[in-house]
Amino acid sequence: MGSTDALQIAASEVREYLRFFRELGVEYAAADIGALERTTTVENVIPAPAERQEAVPPPHFKPISFETPAKERPKAGARLAGLPTLGPRPESRKVNAPKGDLTQKMPTQQAATDQSGSGIPTSDETLEQIRADIGPDCSRCKLSTLGRMQVVNSTGNRKAELMFVGEAPGADEDKLGEPFVGRAGQLLTKIIESIGLERKDVFIGNINRCRPPKNRAPESDETAACKPFLLREISVVRPKVIVVLGATAAQNLLETNVPIGKLRGRFHDYYGVKVMPTFHPAYLLRDPSKKRETWEDMKIVRDHLNALKGRKAE
Ligand code: SF4
Repeated sequence: MGSTDALQIAASEVREYLRFFRELGVEYAAADIGALERTTTVENVIPAPAERQEAVPPPHFKPISFETPAKERPKAGARLAGLPTLGPRPESRKVNAPKGDLTQKMPTQQAATDQSGSGIPTSDETLEQIRADIGPDCSRCKLSTLGRMQVVNSTGNRKAELMFVGEAPGADEDKLGEPFVGRAGQLLTKIIESIGLERKDVFIGNINRCRPPKNRAPESDETAACKPFLLREISVVRPKVIVVLGATAAQNLLETNVPIGKLRGRFHDYYGVKVMPTFHPAYLLRDPSKKRETWEDMKIVRDHLNALKGRKAE
């Protein structure tokens, strides 16, 4: 690769970072983002030799301020500040399993793939049937008795290539009956838009459908009872990529205790579906410096989906 090519790639990445930060609501950057997008060239990212001694460093080195106004800063010690690792898994996931438990249907991860090349079992269910099976007053786990207002079902495009999975509804979701509609949900919408999609293009759900009290992480018996419904939805939607948001969801879906910081940044396999763990938007609201890593994760997702589209078009 020639030096001009390398510089053009660098300039392109600078533009991408700035666009992403703007999408995510970064309000201050020591650069005119719009002007940079319009005019960034190799020449104005790397100044001519005569100017270099006094040149300002390229904008992706440090200039972006993640300062959050003090009044918006989350209180210390809240929910995701010290994410718990999962407790021991239940002896058998069938103990609290709902009717139609997917553990009956889902093969082990080593199982052979079906003819389409995906390891997800085929399903003749509809999302409506799964929802009806859950029911509006589901009481398969103790979250039904701990103050939830309603069951919050998954939502979105039933033919989505991209699916997002969180941990459990929060207060806003519990009130409105839809996943990711609070501040974290608004940030998720921006993340989706940053890779050129709209919210209506994706499918969004949670491992648990009822709000845990005080927004604590769902416990292992609760996830064991509720996760099979999500797995059945995955069988119906058959996404190409699943983005799992936050440590609790990622560890639950991938059945691991590895911290999110080590899981993120690369694809994992889930019945032949690519899974990208990344930070939960609520965590990004607390620690905006993690937005850069989230962007790296989402770029991998975007590039994979684009490559699949390119292959289809050939
Ligand atoms: S969390 Fe899931 S399994 Fe538990 S009561 Fe709610 S819908 Fe039922």
